Amino acid sequence: MAGLCAGLFLKQRGWSVEIYERSPDELTSRGAGIVSHPELLALLAETGADTDTEFGVPIGDRRVVNRDGEIVARFHYPQIATSWTRLLHMLGDIFPPEHYHLGKNVTAVSADVQHVRIEFDDGTSASGDILVGADGIRSTIRGFVLTDAEPLYAGYVGWRGLVRERDIPRDLRSDVFSTMMFCLPPGEQIICYPVAGPGDDLRPGHRSLNLIWYVPAGDRRELGALLTDVHGTTHSGSIPPPLIRPDVVTAMRAHAEDVLAPQFRALLPLAPQPFLQPIYDFESGRMVRDRIALIGDAAFVARPHVGAGVYKAAGDAHALAMALGEGRDIDAGLRRFEAERLPIGRRIVDFGRYLGHCLRDDFGTERERQAAAHHRSPFGIIEETARLAFLYRTGE
Ligand SMILES: Cc1cc2nc3c(=O)[nH]c(=O)nc-3n(C[C@H](O)[C@H](O)[C@H](O)COP(=O)(O)OP(=O)(O)OC[C@H]3O[C@@H](n4cnc5c(N)ncnc54)[C@H](O)[C@@H]3O)c2cc1C
Repeated sequence: MAGLCAGLFLKQRGWSVEIYERSPDELTSRGAGIVSHPELLALLAETGADTDTEFGVPIGDRRVVNRDGEIVARFHYPQIATSWTRLLHMLGDIFPPEHYHLGKNVTAVSADVQHVRIEFDDGTSASGDILVGADGIRSTIRGFVLTDAEPLYAGYVGWRGLVRERDIPRDLRSDVFSTMMFCLPPGEQIICYPVAGPGDDLRPGHRSLNLIWYVPAGDRRELGALLTDVHGTTHSGSIPPPLIRPDVVTAMRAHAEDVLAPQFRALLPLAPQPFLQPIYDFESGRMVRDRIALIGDAAFVARPHVGAGVYKAAGDAHALAMALGEGRDIDAGLRRFEAERLPIGRRIVDFGRYLGHCLRDDFGTERERQAAAHHRSPFGIIEETARLAFLYRTGE
């Protein structure tokens, strides 16, 4: 996301851009759902992407249901929910394919004050005036800008799943396809909202429902147990969904029966391949070194509650291109970019942490304890929606 946005914004200013992507195949379905807001749409439109054609599924409000399924809080908040793949295609469709190189895994970087050279694991290399590190949460390029910087585990995981619309009982469909629905079991949080279906399909009947259930998994040992696969191998970071042990999925489903509202109890078993997302924070002390700039998740990773990963990626890319302009003074441009985006990245990560306190029991400060209590109440969590809108508008 960040790489394509940066490529498009820089090309508009006359730069020649090459994008190198590690994956040998076209990327698909990373991150099931994206909730958009006017600020994100405005940035996407500025890349040149076609935002006029139907973009996602409109939702009208946010609702909280209790353990019995009754609506206990409601907030009018129109948004458009779509899939990560739908967004990726919108950007990928307008970037020249001859400058987008798949199967290019960057393994080494060397930079001096005026040039950058990267090496790939296939033995080839490339060089240029600047390198934009848009290589995500486990960034390789970050290691050449910062030392000893690793994402921090937040103490809980998100169980995620996608349900095909046609599999959802009719009496539930109209409700869950017009809203973002929450349920707040003690110390947990589950959310669902509609997204584009397979093949970016937005036709009623062909869409999907995105489920995210945040559950504490207190320490590294507990996380390690969840990330230990069917062969006994413990993964670091995340686990490929087909390798999640059946007993882990069975325990998750049994727990659902104990604590969730009937709507979610009906929906969860319909997700054929649930997957686990351990939640991390990452905050950079710097975004620029020599001629290397970090953007998107390579620079800052905010918890998903903020729904700002793609917006931040596009915002970083836009700020970078604006600061560099046509490249008359690259070093001054990189300094301007960093000065503008460092505080914004920190604020977004901080807000994600604040929203996530309700999923922890060990509070470092009174502010954290109060935040947790607030977000465990239906009106508290709904009220934060208004603050999210403010964050998108102002970055404050
Ligand atoms: C399950 C899930 C759900 C999410 N839901 C939302 C949401 O609802 N809303 C939202 O705004 N955000 C969401 N996010 C976050 C969002 O996906 C990211 O914030 C966003 O994609 C960041 O974009 P990026 O370009 O910085 O990183 P990425 O999208 O991670 O892209 C990094 C790219 O770099 C490539 N790469 C990595 N290393 C190398 C290398 N060494 N050489 C070459 N290429 C490399 C990777 O293959 C990848 O394609 C979600 C994330 C996940 C995992």
